[in-house]
Amino acid sequence: MSASLLPALRTLLPTATIWDAAELASRDPGFDARNFGAAALVRPTDTGGVAALVKFCAEHGVSLVAQGGRTGLAGGASTSAGQVICDLSGLNRIEEIDPFARVAIVQAGVTLGALQEAAAEHGLDPGIDLAARGSATIGGMVSTNAGGIMAFRNGTMRHRVLGLEAVLPDGRVFCDLTRVLKTSAGYDLKHLFIGAEGTLGIVTRVALRLDPVAGASATALVGVPDAASAQQIVRHFLGSTSARLSAAEILWRNFASFMQRALGYSPGQLPLDAPCLLVLGLGADSMEAARAALEDGLAAIWEEAGIIDGLVASSDAQAAQMWRLREETVEIGRAHPMAPSFDVSVPGGGLDAYVARIEAGLKALDASYAPYVYGHLADGNLHISINCDGPVPHERHQAIEDVLYDGLREAGGSFSAEHGVGLEKREAYERHADPVKRDLARAIKGLIDPNNILNPGKIISTE
Ligand SMILES: Cc1cc2nc3c(=O)[nH]c(=O)nc-3n(C[C@H](O)[C@H](O)[C@H](O)COP(=O)(O)OP(=O)(O)OC[C@H]3O[C@@H](n4cnc5c(N)ncnc54)[C@H](O)[C@@H]3O)c2cc1C
Repeated sequence: MSASLLPALRTLLPTATIWDAAELASRDPGFDARNFGAAALVRPTDTGGVAALVKFCAEHGVSLVAQGGRTGLAGGASTSAGQVICDLSGLNRIEEIDPFARVAIVQAGVTLGALQEAAAEHGLDPGIDLAARGSATIGGMVSTNAGGIMAFRNGTMRHRVLGLEAVLPDGRVFCDLTRVLKTSAGYDLKHLFIGAEGTLGIVTRVALRLDPVAGASATALVGVPDAASAQQIVRHFLGSTSARLSAAEILWRNFASFMQRALGYSPGQLPLDAPCLLVLGLGADSMEAARAALEDGLAAIWEEAGIIDGLVASSDAQAAQMWRLREETVEIGRAHPMAPSFDVSVPGGGLDAYVARIEAGLKALDASYAPYVYGHLADGNLHISINCDGPVPHERHQAIEDVLYDGLREAGGSFSAEHGVGLEKREAYERHADPVKRDLARAIKGLIDPNNILNPGKIISTE
């Protein structure tokens, strides 16, 4: 979009915040420096404003990129010169929480943290959680089909959405704000927008399921010989009827040691000397009950699972220390700027074999490679960062991807578990996603967005 269109846009949307390219250049772009490479940012305050903006851009042949909290890790919100950002943070109202039906109706720019807080007042929870909760928005999470810490229990965003509203590339509003679980009324088209990364529509409102929240939750850090042992522990707690497993995060030794150093934890502060560490969260009616259930459960499975060491946090501060070890992953980016990072799903009991295979494969590429591996154990979602600065040359990146992705699809896993495809995994999508699925996706994009107005070049290559 040329700057000459800005006055018309200001007249069209008098209540929207509008920044030009110079203003954008002076602002923090979030997790991807390319987020603010656009000609302008427009922040409407309601669905009508988003629809008017999209219609205006469509009429002027200007492409749009939706942005929520800009915490996405696949480059899905990145922009290029001439594009317009549709910033959803102005749509930040929690419209309704129905504690009886356990449903929330929210505008797309509401952050996960804000919804968690509002739902907690009714003893409820959105049932999904991730470390970027303070900034990530519901619209962004819908658009990446975010997963996070509790997906093993409650599913991903796709399983939490009951209905949604989205602005289509021609400015029409698709409205399916169903708030019931059961609807078998033809094609359930809302699912097209979930995980579409803003390429098919701009999500403006969402109806979400809420779940009752446990009265209190306790945390433990457990040292185990391998992922199989950690999975045994998880199965044990999942079988418990008295307490509710709410988190099971795994940290391989190289990642845990790196984080211990980066966070300045002194040796012995936490029991960290094991090939794998498991961070467990358990909910119960009271803190005492949750801690007791963790202690009893670990004692019961200790020998059978070959537990090396373990500690149930005795205070909120100690629990926070354990969680920082898992969640402060921005430290990797500090130590290795733009480190090549990946996000895979590995099915079933194949985690140990997978990690052993990729460690050997990466070493064969470069003897200095010792990946940081951690993730959501209970659903097999591993995050992998290479211990080098990025970006690495294209051929090397592909070679790393081949080591990480080969055989995953055939085994029933995925090269992209929860961060999306965006720009970062577009080539991987071409090389590793099913070809018929890709053909169908391209046809759907062509049907809904024939002029390629919404987030062009993301997921589906337009070259
Ligand atoms: C520290 C950290 C931890 C994280 N942990 C997890 C995790 O455990 N699980 C997980 O799944 N992700 C995780 N993420 C990734 C990120 O938080 C999620 O991808 C999140 O869903 C992005 O939300 P956002 O509002 O920041 O979206 P953005 O980054 O703004 O956008 C992401 C994508 O969605 C599109 N989009 C945004 N809003 C809309 C909308 N309203 N309509 C249409 N398209 C839209 C954008 O165009 C872009 O393609 C983490 C990120 C960080 C930084």
